[in-house]
Amino acid sequence: GEEITAEMVDDLSRKHFPMCMRNLHDNLRKDHHLKHYGRLQYGLFLKVLGLSINEALVFWRQSFGASITEDKFNKEYRYNIRHSYGLEGKRANYPAKSCQRILTNDQPGPQDSHGCPYRHFSVDNLQAALLSTYGSQGFTSADMPEILHAVNGGHYHVACTRVFEITHGIPKGQGMGDGESVTHPNRYAARSRELWK
Ligand code: SF4
Repeated sequence: GEEITAEMVDDLSRKHFPMCMRNLHDNLRKDHHLKHYGRLQYGLFLKVLGLSINEALVFWRQSFGASITEDKFNKEYRYNIRHSYGLEGKRANYPAKSCQRILTNDQPGPQDSHGCPYRHFSVDNLQAALLSTYGSQGFTSADMPEILHAVNGGHYHVACTRVFEITHGIPKGQGMGDGESVTHPNRYAARSRELWK
């Protein structure tokens, strides 16, 4: 796909990322750090979005900022970033995680930012996050009951799909525009970018 640069990520995040990736991005900006599974979930998503290995190294180095030394970055993070691009170790081409994998694998603990907010946030945190994340894109508290209803039923992708509809001006039931519901964060972002062109 089209190449993304490190400096484009803030803007893309605000406009096109699903809640899971917005949460990772915002926490990375706030803390200048993400724990292992967060870096993995977000890093693979950014790779598939189109961030090259060189831009990924720039992105993560800048994101950590002064919180770590150059030496620490080179020793502890450079290898892992290159590894996720298939450039180290067994050189596997790791795919980005689907919603199904994010929902069921590697359950986040209290200090973690990975996972799916529709599943892993408390109801209070989810409500606050929805309003602060998507309030400027048309999401209001009037939309909350049906989102919480889907979440309470364990239909996390239904909640995420409904948020996509609301924030992209798509009538209810049409999913990402053609009846497709959200099953992969990269598909969410790609569809969002198409619709805003
Ligand atoms: Fe991310 Fe999928 Fe959860 Fe949406 S349903 S927030 S894309 S993991």
